[in-house]
Amino acid sequence: MAGQNPPTTTTDAGIPAPSDEYSLSVGPDGPLLLQDHYLIQKMAQFNRERVPERVVHAKGGGAHGYFELTEDMSAYTRADLFNGVGKRTELLVRFSTVAGELGYPDTVRDPRGFSVKFYTNEGNYDLVGNNTPVFFIRDPQKFQDFIHSQKRLPDTHLRDNTMQWDFWTLSPESAHQVAILFSDRGIPRTWRNMNGYGSHTFMWINAGGEKFWVKYHFTTEQGAVSFTDAEAKAMTAEDPDFHLRDLHSAIARGEHPSWRLQMQVMPFEAAADYRFNPFDLTKVWPHSDYPLITIGRMVLDRNPENYFAEVEQAAFEPANMVPGIAPSPDKMLLGRLFSYPDAHRHRIGTNYLQLPVNQPKVPVHSYNKDGAMRYRHAGAQPVYAPNSFGGPAADPVRYAEPAAWDVSGEIVRSAYTRHREDDDFTQPGTLWRNVLSETDREHMVTNVVNHVSMVTAPDVRRRAVEYWRAVDPGLGALVAKMLG
Ligand code: NDP
Repeated sequence: MAGQNPPTTTTDAGIPAPSDEYSLSVGPDGPLLLQDHYLIQKMAQFNRERVPERVVHAKGGGAHGYFELTEDMSAYTRADLFNGVGKRTELLVRFSTVAGELGYPDTVRDPRGFSVKFYTNEGNYDLVGNNTPVFFIRDPQKFQDFIHSQKRLPDTHLRDNTMQWDFWTLSPESAHQVAILFSDRGIPRTWRNMNGYGSHTFMWINAGGEKFWVKYHFTTEQGAVSFTDAEAKAMTAEDPDFHLRDLHSAIARGEHPSWRLQMQVMPFEAAADYRFNPFDLTKVWPHSDYPLITIGRMVLDRNPENYFAEVEQAAFEPANMVPGIAPSPDKMLLGRLFSYPDAHRHRIGTNYLQLPVNQPKVPVHSYNKDGAMRYRHAGAQPVYAPNSFGGPAADPVRYAEPAAWDVSGEIVRSAYTRHREDDDFTQPGTLWRNVLSETDREHMVTNVVNHVSMVTAPDVRRRAVEYWRAVDPGLGALVAKMLG
């Protein structure tokens, strides 16, 4: 706006303001007057500038872009965005850390959120993933406790390695994710240099009603590059907002980061007797069993103009699935279908889907109405269904719920039914033995030992050694030796 004649300041009601500098007072040195509505409005509005920060994934950044389909997927899903080579779908991505608060440094050891909102022709499709293909737990009953253990102590308000390792070592299903977290991939160099994973298993359904199980992988075209622990610490001191700045400045320079979208597809019937439970969020599907199929490319090419409006108010929810895509029996996914929209209603209000960044690009014909801050109304349309006055009507023929999966059984609280190779330690062991280089392994052991050495409870330290011994005896021995 430099060089233009600035407009006159107004109140939020549009009334021209008399001064940007001086409050209304009785004489130049006198007391202030309550009738200075402009001053009162500024003070009151300022006090209300913040919405509650996200209880997890508070610190983040995002950008707009598009997804272009390069391989037609109509054999597997009827989802419009995955049908028709060359189809482009606008999208928004948000990256984040998990445990830290809104102003927390970016370059810390933590998983990264990797959330994508596709504005499809059939409504919004949200894929709310991470930069890791697995998660710490497999039942949403444990999520709140897990997050409490990663956050702050009740008395000192400090983060605490003892409670982190206490929770992890009492929850052996965490070993795979913790192994990835303490490898160098635990601190990506930039958001541009990390892969994204839908992590959960989802169902795809084609136009003929055939069903498949799928996993999503966004593979970075910038290369997967990490910071070592020392590099990350130096960057935390130099620029706590490094990842936010990097993404913004890369896009501003015209360097548009991109990812290949690659899928793993499992035939529906194969799940029942796969060697391990394919819906368990602590496990990957080995590429040798289900190779990656490249289906398209995601490009981020536009920075937000207003961070609050387009990133802080962005609301991603795994429950937003379009026709042709459905949940799997992954219990974490099923829990998240409730918890995300519930969080948004609390954080930004019941009508959060009317905010520009969250609005679908297709018309909305819903019978939900009213509530705080709603500004789109259905006019004089009928307010109930069914009705005889031409109100919207659902289409159970075209959009019937997919006959997802058959279930029967007692109502229980239980672990998953075990498949023959289910266990908590094989896959992290494979990562350690077969994937990590010699240097990666040295870094991982050092990262673990530095972190565990801050644990104050001797029992928890002992359990940490046993935990790594279960992943791999050699790794456990190294950790034990270096911890003394
Ligand atoms: P592959 O050898 O086919 O693939 C290994 C995978 O590991 C690649 O996707 C690679 O990503 C990724 N990787 C490399 N370094 C790390 C790291 N430090 N942390 C996490 N991932 C890393 O092996 P399999 O498919 O048989 O899986 C073996 C192990 O690899 C698994 O137990 C799991 O720990 C890990 N892994 C597997 C994934 C999968 O979906 N199968 C996905 C990610 C990890 P890239 O190609 O970008 O280098």
